[in-house]
Formats: sequence, C-alpha cells, structure tokens
Amino acid sequence: MSPLRTPRFGGRVEPDGELRCMSRTWQTDLQCREPATWHVAWALVPRGRLSLICNSHMEGLSGVYDYVDRHPAAFTCAMPGVGWLTTPGGPSRCIPIDTTETPD
Ligand SMILES: [Zn+2]
Ligand SMILES: [Zn+2]
Repeated sequence: MSPLRTPRFGGRVEPDGELRCMSRTWQTDLQCREPATWHVAWALVPRGRLSLICNSHMEGLSGVYDYVDRHPAAFTCAMPGVGWLTTPGGPSRCIPIDTTETPD
C-alpha cells in the first residue's frame, strides 16, 4: 500500500486557454469538464505535486487528501516553467521562474 496521500489528478489547459479540472473522484467516473477554479499543492518538496481542480472537486478532495497549499487558479498557473511562491501570512501564487524576481 502506498502511504502517499496524493491524488493523481492533473488539470490541464485546453487549446482555447480554458483551465479544465479533469479530475475524477472514482476511477469509474468520467473526467470532470468543469473549469478549474483552484490550484492545489498536495506537496511542494522535493517536487511540486500540483492540481488544477474545480470548486466541487476541491470540496470533495480536501476531505480525503491532505493539501499543503492552494490558491485560486489563474492563467499563470498553467504556464510551463512557473514556480509556486509562498508568502508568509499571505496567499501563495504562481510566478514565472525565469524572471529577475526570485523568491529568496
Ligand atoms: Zn472537477
Ligand atoms: Zn497556481
């Protein structure tokens, strides 16, 4: 048995730029077609395990899995090469890593 409490959900960007949930609670469910509203980090170290999920999946999954951080899904979240920036006492967000703004 795996001790990991990390769901295998992805979320993805459609060609039109929509963020799509693509989660399913049960293996037999159809993949969710709702727009993703949350960007969830199930783990940040050693590598980020992140999901873009919709509101109802956020509610359902947060009762089953432990997440370490989350913020509202934004277009930046789905861009390649972005990093998860946590600010003490503030909301986290995704920022492009290859900018001059580097989180210490
Ligand atoms: Zn969903
Ligand atoms: Zn994000």
